[in-house]
Amino acid sequence: MTSHQSDPDDLIPGVLWRRDPVVEAIPLVVDSPHNSTDWPADFDHVVTEAELMTSVDRFVDELFGHAPAVGATLIAAQFPRAYIDPNRAEDDLDLALIEGDWPLPVNPGEKTDYGMGVVRRYILKGRPIYDRKLSVAEVIHRLETYHRPYHAAVAAAMEAAHGRFGQVFHIDCHSMKPVGNAMNVDAGSARPDMVLSDREGATCDADFIQTAAELLRDRGYRVSINHPYKGAELVARHSDPAAGRHSLQIELNRALYMDTESFEKTDGFAALKADLDGFLDGMAAFVRARVG
Ligand SMILES: [Zn+2]
Repeated sequence: MTSHQSDPDDLIPGVLWRRDPVVEAIPLVVDSPHNSTDWPADFDHVVTEAELMTSVDRFVDELFGHAPAVGATLIAAQFPRAYIDPNRAEDDLDLALIEGDWPLPVNPGEKTDYGMGVVRRYILKGRPIYDRKLSVAEVIHRLETYHRPYHAAVAAAMEAAHGRFGQVFHIDCHSMKPVGNAMNVDAGSARPDMVLSDREGATCDADFIQTAAELLRDRGYRVSINHPYKGAELVARHSDPAAGRHSLQIELNRALYMDTESFEKTDGFAALKADLDGFLDGMAAFVRARVG
């Protein structure tokens, strides 16, 4: 069995890219929704680039770049989460940000209360991203052009794997500030090296997340589960453990690999990348055993 190769249809320039397995495919999908520093031309923010950079999970696509070499499909966003956030439900919307009558249902949650809904109000505590309201048309454009195609790409990759193997495993990849800031539920607290999340057991079988935790702890990392993050829209929407669809979220502490002032890689990057290569090898072995 050989894997299929990417073709130009797999790419949506400025929206996302997908890298298909370069070895025999396994039902593992890895996605990185927050790595992009490509600011869309119509973003029209009033905050500084340095402030925007604090919201970027920089280099996460590269850190998990080994995925196609273990048989997984890797998907990464090419738009910034500060513009439209695929890790929020599209109805997690703050209507106070919108000019005019919003035509779709809304269901704002706790993240919107913090100014971090699908369209963010604040980049940092007390720092609004915009000095105006957004039009209905521009928010619809962001949903239709970025948010929905990103979810469609994840869903398609998972559906293809599930159709072929009867089950599928998904790792949704992020990075976090070393200390929670004033907009976070854990404001002021130092964070562990990594946080794994399954929405308190709702998005995957326990052995999937336990295997992930063991692989990372074996490499010396301090791993916390479901705290301070429980997992968000990507794992919630694409999982259904009873139907063989298993998703977990991973957050990497940025202090492991980047300078949180300059946003550049540190000397720690290479060691973390090597450990994550080994982590992906281990997760692939788990997936092969499950479908074998
Ligand atoms: Zn993230």
